Amino acid sequence: MQLIHFSEDGQSCLGIKTGRGFLHVAKAAAALSLPFPSYIEDVLEDPEQAAQLDAILAHADMLTDEAYYVSLDDELAFLPMLSRPGKILCIGKNYAAHVAETKSEQPKKPLVFSKFTSALAAHQEAIPIPAGTEKVDYEVELVAVIGKKAYCVSPEEALDHVAGYTIGNDVTARDWQKGSPQWLLGKSPDKFAPLGPIYVTADELDPTNLAISLKLNGELRQNSNTSLLIFDLPTIISYISQHFALEPGDIIFTGTPDGVIMGYPEDEQVWLKPGDVIESTIEGIGTLVNTFR
Ligand code: MG
Repeated sequence: MQLIHFSEDGQSCLGIKTGRGFLHVAKAAAALSLPFPSYIEDVLEDPEQAAQLDAILAHADMLTDEAYYVSLDDELAFLPMLSRPGKILCIGKNYAAHVAETKSEQPKKPLVFSKFTSALAAHQEAIPIPAGTEKVDYEVELVAVIGKKAYCVSPEEALDHVAGYTIGNDVTARDWQKGSPQWLLGKSPDKFAPLGPIYVTADELDPTNLAISLKLNGELRQNSNTSLLIFDLPTIISYISQHFALEPGDIIFTGTPDGVIMGYPEDEQVWLKPGDVIESTIEGIGTLVNTFR
């Protein structure tokens, strides 16, 4: 199943991908007189609401009118793919070519940091560049969404705890990241974690071999494959889960490949500025688009 999350008349709405476009869950449910969920978290946390979504999709064939469908090209007010993850965890330095471009050493175990939920942003949302930073950079990343509590799980068990995937950009203020031994201030300014535009359930996507790329103002800057992760997703989940439980709705940014601005020779580093557009693309999911302001 593939879902989108948007706002209409101040209400949170989900859309489910069908052959006709994304079925507007609230409108479809009203027509079918069925209960319905409005947040992906609801579906992750509550089997009953997950079943509601299945029931609506099962009746989609009855809804032939275009009014029940939306498209990514419509002027939708997208919402962050997840609205209230309990944890936003991120893995740093997880592609060898990216480690090399940052002239640092490859971590011996996953390097884990976090962002606040106030860093979440939506597809097509403008990301503000804070006044006090001069070195804002992009990082396209595969993001895994936890669907089942994971505590002290083995790598072999780990993927059973993943509900789905989306695209994230681990936007980073490099001067603030490097301004202290803790990366938090550079990683978690408001809206520095855009997510979307599509959530793909784990049964539809093999995370181990996906093309991953990023364009800045139309120019290809990052171009790699998730097969090149140093610590793969099972290793990451197993490792984190030895320290604390991962809960449904928690999300994990799995690391960015090479091609970030920080990796350019110093005299060629042109940092992000208002008006810049980044397109973050992952095979099988889509393209997350954000501007800076
Ligand atoms: Mg990152």
